[in-house]
Amino acid sequence: MRVCIVGAGYVGLVTGLGLADIGHHVTCVDRDQARVDLINSGEPPFYEEGVAEQLRTHGGERLRAISSVAHGVLDADLTMLAVGTPFDGEQISLRQIEQASRDVGAALAEKDAYHVVVVKSTVVPGTTESVVVPILEEVSNKRAGRDFGVGMNPEFLREGNAVADFMKPDRIVLGAIDQRTQDVMAELYKPFSDAEVVRTTPKTAEMIKYASNSLLATLISFSNEIANLAAQVGVDAMDVMRGVHLDKRLTPIAEDGSRLWPGILTYLEPGCGFGGSCFPKDVKSLIAFAEQIDSSMPLLRAVIDVNERQPGKMLELLGRHFPDVKGVAVTVLGMAFKPGTDDIRESPSLTVTGELVTRGAEVTVFDPAAHQPVFEVYGDQVRYANTLEDAVADADAILLMTRWPEFLGLPDVLRSQQRQPVVVDGRRLLDKGSAEVYEAIGL
Ligand code: NAD
Repeated sequence: MRVCIVGAGYVGLVTGLGLADIGHHVTCVDRDQARVDLINSGEPPFYEEGVAEQLRTHGGERLRAISSVAHGVLDADLTMLAVGTPFDGEQISLRQIEQASRDVGAALAEKDAYHVVVVKSTVVPGTTESVVVPILEEVSNKRAGRDFGVGMNPEFLREGNAVADFMKPDRIVLGAIDQRTQDVMAELYKPFSDAEVVRTTPKTAEMIKYASNSLLATLISFSNEIANLAAQVGVDAMDVMRGVHLDKRLTPIAEDGSRLWPGILTYLEPGCGFGGSCFPKDVKSLIAFAEQIDSSMPLLRAVIDVNERQPGKMLELLGRHFPDVKGVAVTVLGMAFKPGTDDIRESPSLTVTGELVTRGAEVTVFDPAAHQPVFEVYGDQVRYANTLEDAVADADAILLMTRWPEFLGLPDVLRSQQRQPVVVDGRRLLDKGSAEVYEAIGL
């Protein structure tokens, strides 16, 4: 199939490369010319495992990038909207979706053949039918369901695992306004014959995406609330959560007596909070949406509230040893919101780093992938270490914020040097005895 993807960000480009990999011909459209040029020169515009390899294989062959939506749509059978849907502080911003819909609508006006438009971006329930469809119809002067199809196909890929997640989907949700659209969307994903397909309405598809992310965010805040109480009553939250994990509804016992340890357990561990471009934004957008329609989501409000306090817990633990951090050499290990990506959007590390800088600490940061985006925020206000050794050599304290596997080497590095900083483990990555002075969330 010939596919046009409007928005070549994380989702658009990973989706485009995945679709190229299964044999489709993909045109990625982005309004950012620098991004288009990078993609066409074979350079991924962001760090994500597997993207560079796929771009080497498919770039210039089955995938190209351009900046004109009209050209992309005219050359395709199906167009996906994968533009950003940020939270503007009060509600989800649909500005990019509206603009992209207008651009696609204008191209549809010039096109005779049947075309399918699919919303891939995360949008609040009802958006596809009440915002995208009216714009497409008005600008194209054509009718949805007759002249073109409209669908909603949420994306579940996890940054850091995006390529693998796209190539091995656990589910494919196809929300569509009619059967014809749904069949075209099913055809697109036909090679993923093992994946469970949910055929449904656009509104249900939109809701599935929010329910999925809200559940995961809720598990994290639940674990963190339990962890904070565990620490206060003097028990280790890791022991508590391990006892919880052993419920066989979470870790089923197989026929041969062995236990299964599902990935969901990683959301049931103590930590310094969730970040990224999805969980905080999606949960806040859903709460705001509910309130607009006179509903309320007290549980999800609490999920956000607990999460926003977690970076402060790291500073509290640091404060036990350095009540005043002015002039204290603090190393922040991990700036990306999770390992495997350079994405620092809403990362708890940003909050902590900002607070340390404001309070006058001498901050060093080390992240295996994210120095460039951090530089764009903090510039020369912090020092950027090149190696783990360099990062901790002169530190008075270390805050471990991201579960990068590289940081597992910290105990060895500390053993090899005289200076013994305070280690505050925000991800419970290290053993309790792995530093002379060890503090941690939930301990
Ligand atoms: P992003 O900000 O990385 O990328 C969006 C891209 O769209 C940008 O490159 C921007 O230049 C481009 N763009 C915006 N308007 C345009 C227009 N009118 N024409 C052409 N290009 C345009 O965003 P993202 O992280 O890829 O997220 C995209 C959507 O997918 C969001 O709704 C997000 O919530 C959702 N989502 C993201 C993830 C994730 O892990 N990042 C996972 C699942 C779903």
